[in-house]
Parts: sequence; structure tokens; C-alpha cells
Amino acid sequence: MSPIENETPPETINYKTIVYWSPELKRLEGVKQGSAIKTKALKFLKLNLVEYDREKKEFHVKPIKGYNKTTYTIKGEENHLACNCQFYRSVSMKWAHPICSHTMAVKLWLEIIRWNKGGKK
Ligand SMILES: [Zn+2]
Repeated sequence: MSPIENETPPETINYKTIVYWSPELKRLEGVKQGSAIKTKALKFLKLNLVEYDREKKEFHVKPIKGYNKTTYTIKGEENHLACNCQFYRSVSMKWAHPICSHTMAVKLWLEIIRWNKGGKK
């Protein structure tokens, strides 16, 4: 199911509907392990595990219960986010644009907030 070409973008967006509208997710198409990254990132959003630490100016992605116990730290500007997880530091470092499920979750989280504030593009 995908939106028809000329459908008007919705007023608000969430972790379910963002899959049809996010330019970030579009960029994952054709990326090795892209669909796994997408699935995991959306799960972090669904479970509300992304948060921003205003003091340290960094993002945290909390662990999925029963899956792992590590909180990952994501730092940097929105377009240059870096994560301290194993996948980001090993596998994705070989890519032109390193990415992992955590940096993707943060990007989508920011996209949703911006969209729902009325600043969608
Ligand atoms: Zn990561």
C-alpha cells in the first residue's frame, strides 16, 4: 500500500505513515541491509526509545526490552550523525554515507517532530 501520486501530504505524520513520505527512508532503497535498518529504526520509534539530551546535546536510543541492554549515543548535526554502535563503527564505515538503525531512528524522529509542527517540506 502506498499513496497515490497526487495525494495531498497529511497534516500530521507518525511512525506508521512516515514510511510513505520520508526522504530519508527513500535514500535507504538500494542500500545493503537497508530494509533491516528501516525495520529496526521504525521499531525504536514505535516503542518511543529515542530521546534528546539537551545538556549534552546528543541523542540516545534506549534498548528494546528483551533484545539488548545498551543505550546508544548519537552525536552530531542532523546530516552528519554518528553512532557508537558496533554496526556503525564497522560495517557502515565502509559506505559513502555511514548509517545505522539508531542514526536513522533519530533522523526520522526529527522528521516527525518537524512535520507535526507544520514545517513539512
Ligand atoms: Zn547505531
